[in-house]
Amino acid sequence: MGLSSSSRGHVESEEQTLAIAHAVKAAGAHMMRGGAFKPRSSPYSFQGLGLRGLQILERARQETGLPVVTEVIDPRDVSWVAEYADVLQIGARNMQNFSLLKEVGRVDRPVLLKRGMHSTLEEWLNSAEYVLSEGNEQVILCERGIRTFENYTRNTLDLSAVPAIKELSRLPIIVDPTHSTGRVSLIEPMSLASVAAGADGLIVEVHNKPAEALCDGDQALTPPLFSALMDRVRPLHEFMGTNQ
Ligand code: PEP
Ligand code: MN
Repeated sequence: MGLSSSSRGHVESEEQTLAIAHAVKAAGAHMMRGGAFKPRSSPYSFQGLGLRGLQILERARQETGLPVVTEVIDPRDVSWVAEYADVLQIGARNMQNFSLLKEVGRVDRPVLLKRGMHSTLEEWLNSAEYVLSEGNEQVILCERGIRTFENYTRNTLDLSAVPAIKELSRLPIIVDPTHSTGRVSLIEPMSLASVAAGADGLIVEVHNKPAEALCDGDQALTPPLFSALMDRVRPLHEFMGTNQ
């Protein structure tokens, strides 16, 4: 997987999704992640657009050529969501949802497996095994921060997980500097540090009007900030590629 799998968090409308898809493509993103089903901590928060969200993502892929990554949260949805998605995401809250893991292990789509917020590396790799053991060998791990007593940041980014996973496994690992920090100001330094630690990619939330976002707006980059991030990260990624 190339360096910046990226883009926005959650599909809110067609107009907004298409605008962001074009912007991240222009900035050099290799993939686009959009959530049609959102695993929200509160049942009263925005839950995503479901099928309509997937149709919007399909249109964005047609227009931009960017492969689509989307989260699946219910084992009953896996086979039909896989018809719309190029990559299936398993969110942190579902990392140990074993029936969901087995179900994505039976479809022919790469799985982006986020680290549970309370999970050790061993537990995370065991979750990956659930997918692998069903026959799906395309698992990409995503470090997204773990819960600690620190609350200045949304989570604590465990950057040591990147080289540690490389010691323990052959699976690719990417980093989510958005959910791990929850702070726009920390996204660039943590992105650079992730690449320096050997990450295979980044997943960054982008929104064209963060103040109006239905979810996670305060941690999303605007398209110009995302483009500037890509310009900073690209030379480091190239350097790492030739010096690893
Ligand atoms: C997300 O990727 O939008 C998300 C909810 O992340 P996580 O599962 O890591 O909390
Ligand atoms: Mn989010």
